[in-house]
Amino acid sequence: MLKVAVTGGIGSGKSTVSRQFAALGAVVVDSDALARQVVQPGTPGLAAIVDIFGRRVLASDGSLDRAALASIVFADPDARVALEQITHPLVRSQFDAAVATCPADSVVVNDIPLLRTLEVAARYAVVVGVGAPVGVRVRRLIQRGLTEDDARARIAAQMLDEQRKELADCWLDNSGTEAELKTAAAAVWRQIDEMHSNMRAGRPAPFS
Ligand code: ATP
Repeated sequence: MLKVAVTGGIGSGKSTVSRQFAALGAVVVDSDALARQVVQPGTPGLAAIVDIFGRRVLASDGSLDRAALASIVFADPDARVALEQITHPLVRSQFDAAVATCPADSVVVNDIPLLRTLEVAARYAVVVGVGAPVGVRVRRLIQRGLTEDDARARIAAQMLDEQRKELADCWLDNSGTEAELKTAAAAVWRQIDEMHSNMRAGRPAPFS
């Protein structure tokens, strides 16, 4: 099994890249979906969040009010860290469980917005970063229904593309069209596929 991370900030294009990898044969494990699972009503994750942030983060039906929680953590870095200390280990164990069900000879792609450290990057054979200038991402996020202020606040709360580039083995610039991004992703996929073939044949398999 070859593990690949696709990382990028909000609105960078990482879902588009992951979908392209999936179309070319990858098994994609979506961190966003896992992050939603671990805070469903009745989970220890949601209970831990309510312990820290109180019932103001619950909707009237008892589910997590994601907008209420987002407005707290985007305004307060300590609160964000506290939230991540709850959710990250839970997401990670869900990820490990999901990976354990994947065929041994698959390339598993994890779409992971919050890949922040080299330690996390080291869990993957290849880290693919994707990014675009802030103004371009804001425009795309507005098209997706966010307000400009919200889009900018969310981007500002995340690490900069410059920092992300340092963790990535390769970088996809998504300032062009979606078709261009897909073509660039397909080229990266060919390298990953070759690396995977080499690995399975017992040959040295660096990503180049
Ligand atoms: P998020 O973290 O918010 O889920 P993401 O990094 O997964 O975002 P995508 O969902 O792939 O990014 O892209 C964000 C939005 O921008 C989507 O609506 C997508 O269709 C659009 N988009 C992505 N790339 C381009 C592009 N090159 N040109 C125009 N629109 C694009």
